[in-house]
Amino acid sequence: MHRGGLLKSWASHIRQNKKDLATLMTYECGKPLPESLGEVEYGASFLDFYASECLRPNGLGGGTIIPTPFVKPPSVKNTRGTVMTYNEAVGVCGFITPWNFPLAMITRKVGPAIAAGCTSLVKPSELTPLTAMALEVLARRAGVPEGVFNVLTLGEEDTRRFGEVICTDDRVKKISFTGSTRVGKILLKQCAEGGIVKKASMELGGNAPFVVFSDADIDVAVKAAMASKFRNAGQTCVCSDRFLIHEDVEEEFLEKLVGEVKKIKVGDGMVAGVTMGPLISTKAREGVEEKVKEAVANGAEVLVGGERHEFGEQYYMPTVLKGVIKEDNIFKTETFGPVVASMTFSSDDEALDIIKSSSKTGLASYYCTQSADRMFNFSRRLEHGMVGVNEGIISSVVAPFGGVGESGIGREGNSSGMREYLEEKYVFVNHN
Ligand code: ADP
Repeated sequence: MHRGGLLKSWASHIRQNKKDLATLMTYECGKPLPESLGEVEYGASFLDFYASECLRPNGLGGGTIIPTPFVKPPSVKNTRGTVMTYNEAVGVCGFITPWNFPLAMITRKVGPAIAAGCTSLVKPSELTPLTAMALEVLARRAGVPEGVFNVLTLGEEDTRRFGEVICTDDRVKKISFTGSTRVGKILLKQCAEGGIVKKASMELGGNAPFVVFSDADIDVAVKAAMASKFRNAGQTCVCSDRFLIHEDVEEEFLEKLVGEVKKIKVGDGMVAGVTMGPLISTKAREGVEEKVKEAVANGAEVLVGGERHEFGEQYYMPTVLKGVIKEDNIFKTETFGPVVASMTFSSDDEALDIIKSSSKTGLASYYCTQSADRMFNFSRRLEHGMVGVNEGIISSVVAPFGGVGESGIGREGNSSGMREYLEEKYVFVNHN
C-alpha cells in the first residue's frame, strides 16, 4: 500500500471508532461530547487531505525541471544545462502536542509528515495520553508500520528531557510543537544551542482580538463571538480573547451577547445538552479567577458570571466583562478560559493601536463589519497569521493555520503544511 493508502485507511479506522475516541477525549480533557465528536472528524480530515496531497506534483517525488536562462559566451563550449528540483522528505521528526485538541493536533502534524515520507515520534501532553495511545493502536491496525509513527507518553520530568533530545540529536531533522510561547522559546533555544541547525515549526499562544465595528450586523457578530470564545470553554489558541467594541454598538452587542451566554449549559461533558465543560485543571480555573478579580479591581463591570461555577473545582462560569483596560492581564495576556474581556473604541486607528500595543501575539484575529472596504483593508493592517471576518470558526484542513510574532513560525493544514516536511533539493546537470 502506498502512503496515501495508509493515511486513508488510518482515517477510516478513526471514523469507525469515532464514538469511543470522542468518549475518551471527553473523559480526558472535559470538552462536551459533541465537541469531541467534531474533533474526531476534524482530526481524520487531515489524514484524508494529506492522503491526496502526497500524490500531487508538489508532494514527494514531484519537483520541477527548469531550462537555464544562461547565454553562452563565445569561449564556452557547453551550451546547455538543466536545473532540476526534488522535494525530499526531511527525515525523522519529533513532535510535542498539547491537551486541548488531543487528537487533531497529532494528525495535523503526523498526516503531512507521513505523506512527505517522514517518520515521527510524538510526545502528547501528560494530561491527555490516552487519546494519543488509541490513535497509535488505530494506526497499527491501519497498517502504519511501527517506527513510522510512535507515541511516547512521559511525565513532566521526562518531557523536558524529550524536548532536549529532539532539539539536539542530529538524527532528528525537524521538530514541530504546539503549546505555550514560553515552552516554544525553550525549544527554539535548545535547537540553537546543540546539534545541527534544524527545521522547527512552532504553533504558540494566541490572545486573539475580536473587533465589532459600528456597521457590523450585530446578530452575526454575536454568533461569531460565541463560537470563537466559548468553544472548549475558551481553551483554544484561536479563541477570541480581547474584545473591542465600537462605542456606538456596545450596548446592543453586549446585551445580545449576555443573552446568549446565559444559555450556555455548564456541566459534565458526557451529559446530553451540556455545552461547556470544565477547565483542564483547578490551577487553570484559579488563573482565570485571579485575572477576573484584577480586572474588576481596576474598574471592570461583570455583566454575567465572574465566579467559580458550583459544579466543581475545575469549573468557571461563562463570563462577560465590560470596561476592562488594556493594562489588565485578562486583556493583554492569553486567558484560556470562558471570559469575554471587553472595552470600547471609537476609530479604526484606535482599535489597531490598542491591538498592537497590548500584545505581541499574532495568531488569529476576528472582526465584524458590513463594509467591503474594511473587509479588505483592515485585514491587511492586522499583524496576524489568520483573520476571520464576520466568522468565529476559522480552522479548516484546507486553510494554512499559523501565526506570526510571539505566536510562532510555520503553517499547518493546506499544502503549506506539507511543505514543512519537505526539503527542496536542486540538481544542475550540464549537458552538451
Ligand atoms: P499549555 O500551557 O497549553 O499546557 P505547554 O506549553 O505547557 O502548553 O504544554 C504543551 C506541551 O509541551 C505538552 O505536551 C507539555 O508536556 C510539553 N512541555 C511542557 N514543558 C516542556 C519542556 N520544558 N520541554 C518540552 N516539552 C514541554
